[in-house]
Amino acid sequence: MRQCHWSKFALLGFLVCCTGSFAFADGETQPGRDAKQPVDEAYTAKIRKYTTQPYFASPLVDYLPASKNVPTPEVVLGDVAGAPGILPYAEEVYKYMRLLEKATPRVKVFSIGTTEEGREMIAVAVSSETNLKNLEQNHERLAKLADPRTIHLEDAEADKLVAQAVPVYYITGTIHSPETGAPTALMELAYRLAVDESPYIREIRDGVITLITPVVEVDGRDRMVDIYKWHLAHPKEFYPPLIYWGKYVAHDNNRDAMAMTLKLTQNVLNTYLGWDAQVLHDLHESVPYLYDNTVGDGPYNAWVDPILVDEWQMIGSRNVADLTRFGMPGVFTHGNFDTWSPGYLMFLAAMHNGISRLYETFGNGGADTRERTLEPEEYARTWYKPNPPLPKTLWSQRNNNNYEETGLLTSLHYFNENKRLFLKNFYLKSKRSIEKPSTEGPAAYVLPGNDPRASLQADLLRVLLKQHVEISRATTAFQVSLPVKKEKKKAKPAEGEEKGKTPPAPTTRDFVAGSYIIRMDQPYSRVADALLDYQYWSPKDPQTTPYDDTAWTFGEMFGVEVTRVVDSKVLSVPMERVTEPRPAGGVSGEGTIFAIENHAEPALATLRYRLKDASIDAAEEGFEAGGYKYPRGTFLLKGVERAELDATTRSLNLHATALAAAPIVKTHPLRAPRIAFLHTWINTQDEGWWRLALDELQIPYDYMSTQAIAPIPDLKAKYDVILFPPIGWNSSAATIIEGLPTAWGNPLPWLNTPLTPNLAGKNDSTPDMRPGLGWDGVAKLQEFVKNGGVLLTAADTSQFALSIDLTNGVSTSPADKMKIVGAIVGTRMVDGASPIAYGYEEKVSAYCENGPIFSVNSMLGARRRRLGPEGGARPTGRGSKDDPDFVVGRIADQIPDQPEHELWEVPVPTDEQLHNNPRVIPPNARPRVILRYADEKDLPISGLVDGGKEIAQHPAVLDVPSGQGHVVLFSINPVYRGETENTYALVLNTLLNYDSLSVGRKDAEK
Ligand SMILES: [Zn+2]
Repeated sequence: MRQCHWSKFALLGFLVCCTGSFAFADGETQPGRDAKQPVDEAYTAKIRKYTTQPYFASPLVDYLPASKNVPTPEVVLGDVAGAPGILPYAEEVYKYMRLLEKATPRVKVFSIGTTEEGREMIAVAVSSETNLKNLEQNHERLAKLADPRTIHLEDAEADKLVAQAVPVYYITGTIHSPETGAPTALMELAYRLAVDESPYIREIRDGVITLITPVVEVDGRDRMVDIYKWHLAHPKEFYPPLIYWGKYVAHDNNRDAMAMTLKLTQNVLNTYLGWDAQVLHDLHESVPYLYDNTVGDGPYNAWVDPILVDEWQMIGSRNVADLTRFGMPGVFTHGNFDTWSPGYLMFLAAMHNGISRLYETFGNGGADTRERTLEPEEYARTWYKPNPPLPKTLWSQRNNNNYEETGLLTSLHYFNENKRLFLKNFYLKSKRSIEKPSTEGPAAYVLPGNDPRASLQADLLRVLLKQHVEISRATTAFQVSLPVKKEKKKAKPAEGEEKGKTPPAPTTRDFVAGSYIIRMDQPYSRVADALLDYQYWSPKDPQTTPYDDTAWTFGEMFGVEVTRVVDSKVLSVPMERVTEPRPAGGVSGEGTIFAIENHAEPALATLRYRLKDASIDAAEEGFEAGGYKYPRGTFLLKGVERAELDATTRSLNLHATALAAAPIVKTHPLRAPRIAFLHTWINTQDEGWWRLALDELQIPYDYMSTQAIAPIPDLKAKYDVILFPPIGWNSSAATIIEGLPTAWGNPLPWLNTPLTPNLAGKNDSTPDMRPGLGWDGVAKLQEFVKNGGVLLTAADTSQFALSIDLTNGVSTSPADKMKIVGAIVGTRMVDGASPIAYGYEEKVSAYCENGPIFSVNSMLGARRRRLGPEGGARPTGRGSKDDPDFVVGRIADQIPDQPEHELWEVPVPTDEQLHNNPRVIPPNARPRVILRYADEKDLPISGLVDGGKEIAQHPAVLDVPSGQGHVVLFSINPVYRGETENTYALVLNTLLNYDSLSVGRKDAEK
């Protein structure tokens, strides 16, 4: 095969060369064309022309069968699939799929929803006429296998269904917009599956329903095609990087399978489950030449069924074997992708009893044919990559399409050959999900009906509903036993401790009527279990580079109580199914002043913006009214119609109490600030999650780039708060200020033009993406804060705020061995009197990704050293450790008290430091620590926290007075992937209290 010289062979020779005989197992059909079916000669010649080496093709794709009535992709593309210079818009892909649907009864197109920007998403079913005619009957069979409760978990009944059902294999393309090859590969794949009469393809067509969503990220696809067209029109110039993909996020659109915030995730899951499909196979293009990362590397997600792990191995190994036998280099299935996080789109299948699969093929980020040079680790021969990719080769989009199609066709064929096994497995995985309470457990998760954070609880329940999890509500109060917590074994029993004393009795827990019960005896118990449970990633795990987040525990991330119940009595509690969380809320009591308790619920901010004309104050201390204790931060509303408040609070799951008289408590007004939301042209990925959160909360803001700051004459006159969310990639201050060099190349426009009609979408635009904030912009930000504005930053933008000297008394130190990889950590309240802390308790769980290590001081330019035991230890001398030393011949010295400070406290300057020292920061201008990281032992809550000592006790959220204004710095990331609602209110409190942030400051009062 490899000796076959491309140029020396005519078309026929090529076909013979690449369809040489293979040894297949007894009875298995060989891949390759049907000699009796004519080939589309012109199309086939172009496949040959655009494939850069014969071994980058296979006998499955090195020809195209001809059809009299079915159009090839050429009718829409003007050339063959994978041709250089051609990238179709989503609309063009759909147009072709609909032409197929018209031309053959073997194709049906379904609209499956729209994107955030209103573009359509489709799913294309390709199968035999008979299968497509009998879709409904077939679906009834699959639905019973998907929910074995419908057949009373009877295996014999399942076997009958397994014998008759046609499985569904769902393929999704181009979720990652710069990975551009899948749409044309899938157009051609649909054609082949509908037209090819070779036995190999016919078996797939007759045996499987192939379902295809050719473009998952439709908004991003259209922008990417715009950019490619711009590039073709300006071939010698740099072209703009794809800064926006979807409306909100870029690469993270493939990390949404837990919180389900994006339309594309919701549409794909609804389609996948709506068809009761068995496989979800997602196509990516960032590894040469085909990495079937289905098998990947450990650690594997702890909640997947071992049956699925076995399926990964079966399909992955066979896939490698098939392509290897075709002589295609660079195909492998083990690699650096760990299968821990369930955040990937394909993992929707793994968490819903299906089979998740993911391909990384090799894309050129467009349709140019390019010389590609690989990194040594990419072309290295390893135990799992015995036939690695070539160090250097000419690579085309057609090559990529060949790999994608060959991989998919061999997968489909193998899947069909073994479909009875896979269908039975599908049933078994569903059955084992239902049996969870009596096998590995738990029996259920319970969310108490009296959780003070009702709106956050409702948000969490809505995530589970989007995941198609069944939720029930108890109609009576009930009690469950909780497992006894094992005490750590002591080396020796302490003195007086009896040997063999009876273990402590199990504790019980009471729940009120109306508590939510997530039963684990349901088909989708697996996903609920995975989302609500805790994660432990050992610091000693052989996997030293986690691929993504290591934790996601939703109860912690949403700040609501979730109890894991193993006591199966919980399943017999009287309960009813609910399809929408209880509409808690509304107004009770009599009076014209209304109180809403503050439990740091994001909905409170929505309420402030929605009731524009109401006067709303925050109580600066707790108070009592009507025999009830209200916490600090409680909202007090006046000048609002009861009916309006009732409707608003109901819609927000908030509860208001009418009070007979205004409580006697110090208050300040809560105002809806005018917000500037700042982004860079470096990356909009991480801030996208902040935009999404604000949009969902219906909080308005002006969205602008760093470039827009300098031209605004008076920022403070226009805005009260500037939000500068994290950028990502640890962007430095220099990058933020300077941007990309403007002296070296051409401008990079991000504008809607006739050539690029989709680029800006509903987001921002610029004639040149290169310039950054600039020094004028820096000066404007400094002036804004000096004149009383509030600047809020997180992670890398916090570092930036430090760099431009806005934050007296705050420094950062570099991490040494610390490794906190997308984990949930404990933080502790330091200053609950700060309005930023309103609604929070002593302990706050937060998401952390190696957050910057802040230290605070009372002097400019000073760095703090951690006070270790060695610092305070007494020197060698007389007496014991705690005795004072003496000096012979002298009366004992009066030893002055050494002021001691906790690590998160601003040290009070000593008398010596205060002497003639202009660097001492006045008390009311010193940083105010709101939250700090927990002590080392309490830091890990979920996920990988290693070397936590370095950040333990350091500030996590800081309010730094600066001029007349404030800079609020986050080390944690409070707004992330729709998963961190527990910490949203730290940002929202800053917004609503923007002009009262110094309330409750102890030193300010002096
Ligand atoms: Zn990708």
